[in-house]
Amino acid sequence: MSLVDLHSHSTTSDGLLTPTDLVKLAAAQGIRLFALTDHDDVDGLAEARMAAEEGGIGFICGVEISVTWHNRSVHVVGLRIDPGSPELLVGLESIRAGRAARAAKMAASLDEFGISGSLVGAYAHAGNERMIGRAHFARFLVEKGYAKDVKSVFKKFLVRGKPGYVPHQWADMSQAIGWIKSGGGVAVLAHPGRYDIGKTNLRLLLTDFQAAGGSAIEVVSGSHTREQYLEFAGYAREFGLLASAGSDFHGPGENYLDLGRLPDLPPGCVPVWQDWEEAQGLKGFN
Ligand code: AMP
Ligand code: MN
Ligand code: MN
Ligand code: MN
Repeated sequence: MSLVDLHSHSTTSDGLLTPTDLVKLAAAQGIRLFALTDHDDVDGLAEARMAAEEGGIGFICGVEISVTWHNRSVHVVGLRIDPGSPELLVGLESIRAGRAARAAKMAASLDEFGISGSLVGAYAHAGNERMIGRAHFARFLVEKGYAKDVKSVFKKFLVRGKPGYVPHQWADMSQAIGWIKSGGGVAVLAHPGRYDIGKTNLRLLLTDFQAAGGSAIEVVSGSHTREQYLEFAGYAREFGLLASAGSDFHGPGENYLDLGRLPDLPPGCVPVWQDWEEAQGLKGFN
């Protein structure tokens, strides 16, 4: 089992646990090196870092940035970022700013479909109103009985062609990677197995990502199958990219894998944390 988990969410974005409770759970589950990577916001990092110091686990400051690439949403995780970098902070603020108007449009689309009250309902699930997003709408839809759980929501609602979907313009790839690197961070392409774009476009995505300064991909991810661990280990080798591992944990009951249950990276991967001082105690593990 991996002692490392470099992708997770707290109430600062669309996770269910506060930064403190999340880090406590990670420590209790045996994780030794942990990153909080909330969507488009770094406000939970100070609290999480304190909890990690108290809990005696290694902590990495992270963020997961929403990017639009050829009219699709992809996610770029920044690790070892500087949460005080002005360029990063201004950039994140600029993409958060569109979320309120997007949420209103999502609610209007659900209204048309006969589902009322979703705007107020979604905000009631948002720990951080400026980060209102699809997961909060999903929890509202589960609460009202329109789907049995959050995963099922995304089969019937909130995705392209379904009620509640609203196209949106996020950051572009090179902007997002520039913000991450402005404070010395490393850019990691999140859950590449989730994009469902075919092999040719996937190679294009990896090429663009690398050309824009990205240096790692998630090989082991809570959104990947076992076959995809091997597939993306292969892409990492082929492109000369470092490998990351992250659960994408959002809270108890909302995940494919529980916190602390990630397998080790497949052989042949170069871990993104290989040279990090925070990982020195982990030598011998991958
Ligand atoms: P947003 O940033 O508002 O577009 O919301 C994206 C979030 O919605 C993701 O980070 C997940 O939390 C959630 N989400 C999107 N697709 C799925 C899915 N298929 N299953 C579960 N959660 C999903
Ligand atoms: Mn999320
Ligand atoms: Mn993501
Ligand atoms: Mn995530």
